[in-house]
Amino acid sequence: MSTKAKFQAIRGTRDLLPPETALWNRVEQTAHEVFATFGYGEIRPPIFENIEVFARSVGADSDIVSKEMYSLLDPPTWPEILEKLGNVEDYDRIEATFGIKQALTQSAWMAEIMALRPEATASVCRAYIEHNMQQLPQPVKLYYMGPMFRRERPQKGRYRQFYQIGAEILGGPDAPAIDAELIEMLMTFFDKCGLQGTELSINSIGHAADNCRRGYVAKLKAELEKVKDKLGADSQRRIETNPLRVLDSKLEHEQAIIEKLPRIADHLCDECKTHYAAVKRELELRGVIYRENWRLVRGLDYYMRTTFEITAQGLGSQNAVCGGGRYDGLVELLGGPPTKGIGFAIGEDRLILSLQDAKSQSPVTSHQSPSVYIAWMGERAYATALRAAKDLRKAGFVVELPPTELKFGKALERASKLGSRFALILGDNEVADGQWTLKTLADGSQQKLTEQALLEYLRKS
Ligand code: AMP
Repeated sequence: MSTKAKFQAIRGTRDLLPPETALWNRVEQTAHEVFATFGYGEIRPPIFENIEVFARSVGADSDIVSKEMYSLLDPPTWPEILEKLGNVEDYDRIEATFGIKQALTQSAWMAEIMALRPEATASVCRAYIEHNMQQLPQPVKLYYMGPMFRRERPQKGRYRQFYQIGAEILGGPDAPAIDAELIEMLMTFFDKCGLQGTELSINSIGHAADNCRRGYVAKLKAELEKVKDKLGADSQRRIETNPLRVLDSKLEHEQAIIEKLPRIADHLCDECKTHYAAVKRELELRGVIYRENWRLVRGLDYYMRTTFEITAQGLGSQNAVCGGGRYDGLVELLGGPPTKGIGFAIGEDRLILSLQDAKSQSPVTSHQSPSVYIAWMGERAYATALRAAKDLRKAGFVVELPPTELKFGKALERASKLGSRFALILGDNEVADGQWTLKTLADGSQQKLTEQALLEYLRKS
């Protein structure tokens, strides 16, 4: 191999590196804490599933399933094929019986087709059914976080491996307060993260099984047919595959046309209207500020009634940090009992981008323990430095201990380069008289402190 050969992360994937990963961890820790206060437990579903889990739930016609999913073929090994075929004892006999081509076809035929998860709601519903969670007190409240995979065109805020933090409420009564509390939790989380410029949009897209949604979609389709020639290729295709998605269009020349299309709010059945009004009232009771957007439809087939989206600042065209909605039929679609469901997925990559853009002064980003660089010289000082490092770390401070002896000047230079707040200077003199030297790197001031006084001083800084 040429020495020039270089490996790069695959298109649309990237390495998350320090110090940025510290922000990721703090965001995730905030999610764990906030969601726990609302009674949610964490679920960690596998990263790959049988492809049918997604095909059935997300919808075979959706962009995600038809174009963006990474599928994997998992063919059985020869011993597994032999075991399945039962009466054939070895490879030679398979070949003699079927011929080599046929033998290989057998293995492909027996292969399981799996997919890297493009989202996690389907997996959570599959797990709900698999673990008989309908036997637990309802509703069941779960949250997850982790990587998702979609073969999209990469750009700022859009990756092929990206991260979501999501929550789902499954089972339980048909209460609009459930929708509102989920949204309240979401906004509480964003607030704790210090996310700036958030805007919550809500809508109701009616009841899938009911006439209200079907009637509206039929009407929308008829109107879209009339203006088809004026629409772009994507919207033209969507008239057939998913007319609601035309409302999502960001194309400049389609905006005036879309504004004149029939609106779902005028077509909701009484039940959906009542539900939507109650969700809005519940949000107001909780002090959650929202904006109604009749064009807010979700990309996935399984949504119904309440849908919502949150945008934030500093993200350009990919400014949605979270999407969610109600999906009452989904568990049943995957073979489970009729079950209510609602959830959201936050795009963690975008959340981080927005936080970085705002250089937010929130608790999430500003909290940093003071860091101490221990500059030591001499064997006796090294033993003291090791002990000091252990004690300071135990007390929760970030400590940097150089592995080899450095002259004090060099050590202090390193400490500044690393951005340490303090340098603890330990030489023969300090060890002999038990008075350690602490230098504040920002202003260069120095003081002598006993070990105990040092700990107290750092705790207060
Ligand atoms: P969805 O599962 O499509 O409803 O997406 C929920 C959220 O995940 C979106 O609002 C985005 O913030 C985020 N998201 C979706 N796709 C991507 C992607 N390819 N790259 C980064 N974030 C994404």
